[in-house]
Amino acid sequence: MRYIDPEGRTRLGRFVDDHVIDAAPADSVGFDARPESWSLIENARGMQFGVDEIRLLAPTNPGKVLCVGSNYRDHIEETGVQQPQYPIIFVKLSSAIIGPGEDIVLPYDEPQPDWEAELALVIGRRTRRATGAQALAAVGGLTAFNDVSGRYGQLTTGLGQYTRGKSFDTFGPLGPAVVHPEDLDGAALDIGLVLNGETMQQSNTKHLLFDAQALIEWVSAASTLFPGDVIATGTPGGVGIALDPPRYLADGDVVDVVIEGIGTLRNPVRAEPAPTMAGGVASK
Ligand code: MG
Repeated sequence: MRYIDPEGRTRLGRFVDDHVIDAAPADSVGFDARPESWSLIENARGMQFGVDEIRLLAPTNPGKVLCVGSNYRDHIEETGVQQPQYPIIFVKLSSAIIGPGEDIVLPYDEPQPDWEAELALVIGRRTRRATGAQALAAVGGLTAFNDVSGRYGQLTTGLGQYTRGKSFDTFGPLGPAVVHPEDLDGAALDIGLVLNGETMQQSNTKHLLFDAQALIEWVSAASTLFPGDVIATGTPGGVGIALDPPRYLADGDVVDVVIEGIGTLRNPVRAEPAPTMAGGVASK
């Protein structure tokens, strides 16, 4: 994990039981999940802190965040879209990334902010046109992600607005920590989302349409993946827009993405106040 220590320094460390063992200074990428980064973490013998003495950050500061649309069968059913022939890839700008415990800030002009629990793959090695086991070996670690989605921006403001609607500042909670892929079978993990204590999503990564290997094969055939990059594998059924009536994130909510073996990514939700004077984006 990446954190700010009591002296205000940004560090990498690892969780052991209920405390943190310091490992090394964090550079601008944060934790990049390369094999040498893992050995640094695994051999950590630094200071120990209680989790209440430090502030967690998103474990990595990815160069790119690639998201996958319509990748769980139950989510495909609830949204009524066709099952895709190839993975549907879109971008969430990395400026949207926030860490555990940070506020998801709802823009006053995005009336349909929604949640999406996702398993995130953190790339651990530079990868281009990888296939088979080589593609899977690109996964340096696993963590949790909330693909917070402004449905109005994404779906109502016109075709092709995914990037903007998915990239509002703070709409990318990531963490709390990266787990080594050998310690966890990413292909069979319970995944869920809990809103104010109420379970909204509950599934298992075995229901993914395109698994980690297929996604990396598809993405890396077009774009080089770099250590620290993130692929968010898609969300299962139970998003707010598919409920009857629809339900969206609201000021004061607390939203947890819970993934077996990874833990809980918890973020409070806060509404951005509307400006009191005229301004903002002009509509036609
Ligand atoms: Mg998503």
